[in-house]
Amino acid sequence: MDGLTQRKAKASPGIPNDKWCPFCHVVKETAPHLLLDCPFSREVRSLISGWAGKNFLNPASWPDFDSVLCWWLGRVEAAKPLGKPGRKHIASLVLLSLWEIWKERNRRTFQFKLLCPPAVLLLIKAEAALWDLAGAGLGELVSGDDDVP
Ligand SMILES: [Zn+2]
Repeated sequence: MDGLTQRKAKASPGIPNDKWCPFCHVVKETAPHLLLDCPFSREVRSLISGWAGKNFLNPASWPDFDSVLCWWLGRVEAAKPLGKPGRKHIASLVLLSLWEIWKERNRRTFQFKLLCPPAVLLLIKAEAALWDLAGAGLGELVSGDDDVP
C-alpha cells in the first residue's frame, strides 16, 4: 500500500463525510487530501515554496508520509538547518498556509466563490504580513519585491 492509499484509509475514523473535495471534485474530502494531496493545494504549496525560496516546502520534494502529523514533523525537520528562529518562521508559514487553504475550502463550500492558487498565495502573503506584525517572525518571508502592496 503506498502512502497516498494509506492516508486515504486512515482519513475516515471520525465523523463520516461523503462530500467530494471542493477543489478537484474527484475524490472524497478528507483532511490529508484537502490540505496536502489535492492538486489545488499542491499548487498553492508550490507557489509558497517559490515565494519563500524553500524547496522543502515544495510538494515535489516531499517523501511519502502516513498522516498530516508525519508531514508536519517532516517539514519542521527539514527546516532544522535554519536554526530555531528559522524553524519557527517556517512553522508559522506552514500553519498559515493550512489555515488559508481551509478558508478557501469554506469560501467554496459556503459562499460558492472560488479563488485560483495565485490569489490564495496573495491572501497568504497579506496574512503573513499581519502575522509578522504580531510577532510570528515572518519578516524574512514578507520582505521581497513581489510582496503585498
Ligand atoms: Zn481535491
